[in-house]
Amino acid sequence: MGNLISSIGEFGLIEKIKRQLGNKIIGDDTAPIIIGDETYLATCDILLEDRHFLRSYPPEKIGFKAISVNVSDIVASGGKPIWVLVSLLLPDINISYVNKIYEGIKKACLYYHCQVIGGNITSSEKIGIDVFMIGKAKKFMGRSGAKIDDLVYTTGVLGDSKAGLELLLKKKKSYENFEKQLIKKHINPIINIKNSDYISSFATSALDISDGLSSDIFYLSNQSNVGIVIESKKIPLSDSLLRFCKKYNYDPIDYSLSGGEDYEVLFTQNLKSLPAQAGEIRNPKKYFCIGKVVPKRGVWLDDKKLINKSFSHFLPVTKPPK
Ligand SMILES: [Mg+2]
Repeated sequence: MGNLISSIGEFGLIEKIKRQLGNKIIGDDTAPIIIGDETYLATCDILLEDRHFLRSYPPEKIGFKAISVNVSDIVASGGKPIWVLVSLLLPDINISYVNKIYEGIKKACLYYHCQVIGGNITSSEKIGIDVFMIGKAKKFMGRSGAKIDDLVYTTGVLGDSKAGLELLLKKKKSYENFEKQLIKKHINPIINIKNSDYISSFATSALDISDGLSSDIFYLSNQSNVGIVIESKKIPLSDSLLRFCKKYNYDPIDYSLSGGEDYEVLFTQNLKSLPAQAGEIRNPKKYFCIGKVVPKRGVWLDDKKLINKSFSHFLPVTKPPK
C-alpha cells in the first residue's frame, strides 16, 4: 500500500504534482496569462460541505463566500475579477436551497463587479461549490519577489475567522455582539478589492492569507528565497478577537498565526523605492507592518523559529473548544 496524502500534507502533494508535470509555473495565488498587452489571472477554489461550511449555514452566505475566496486570490495577485464559472456538487436537495446559493453568488458578483459566464452541475453526496475565476491586472504580483530589507505587511486584522468558526461550533443559544462580529467574519468575509491597485503598483511580493499567517508566510520565504522575522506585538488584532480570547482564556497571537480564512493580503514592499504617491493610493486603508525580510533562510516570530500551526486540508475538521 502506498503512502497517504496526510503523510506528506497538502504542500508536499503540490510539490509532487509540480515535479510530475515538470513545470515551474504553479505556485502563486493565480496563474498569469499574458495575451498581447493584457495580463489575465486564472484561479480556482472550492468550498465543500463539512470541510469549509456546514449545511446549517445560510446558503446565501455560502454562495457569496465561494466568490469571495477566489476574489481574494485575484486581489493578492494585483488584479480585479472579471469572469466566473461555477461547478456545483449537489445531493438531491431542495431546489430553493440551490436558489439561495445562487442568490449569494449573484450578490457577490454585483459587489465585486464580475459575471458568471458558465458552469457545471454534478451529483454528489455533499454540497460543493467549485469556482473558476478569471481576472485582470495591470501587473501580475507573485510570491517570489521579496528582497532583503523589504518590510512585511498585512492589509488587515488576523485571527477573527478562526474565532468565529469556534464560536459557531459551540452552538450557543445566544451570542454577545463581539461574538456575532467574529462569526460574521468567518461566514461572510468581504474582500477589499481596492487593495489590488496598491499591490500591483508597489508590492515586491504578495499572497492572500487563507491557510493562516504561520503557514502562508513560509510561501513567501521559500519562493522568494529569503528569511522573514515577524514581530508578534505588531500583528494587528481586532477588539472582538481580544475580547474573545479574554473571555475564553486563549492567546490571541495563536489565533492570528494559525487562523485560516483571514483573506487579507500578506505582502512585502521596499519603502526606499516607494514613490511619493504611494501614500495617497494607500488611502483610505492603512496597512500593518508586521516584520522584515532578512538574509538568513527561515521564519522567526520575535526571536524564536516559527512553527507552522495552520489549517491542514488533510486533518479532521476543527473541533469546538470546551
Ligand atoms: Mg491564496
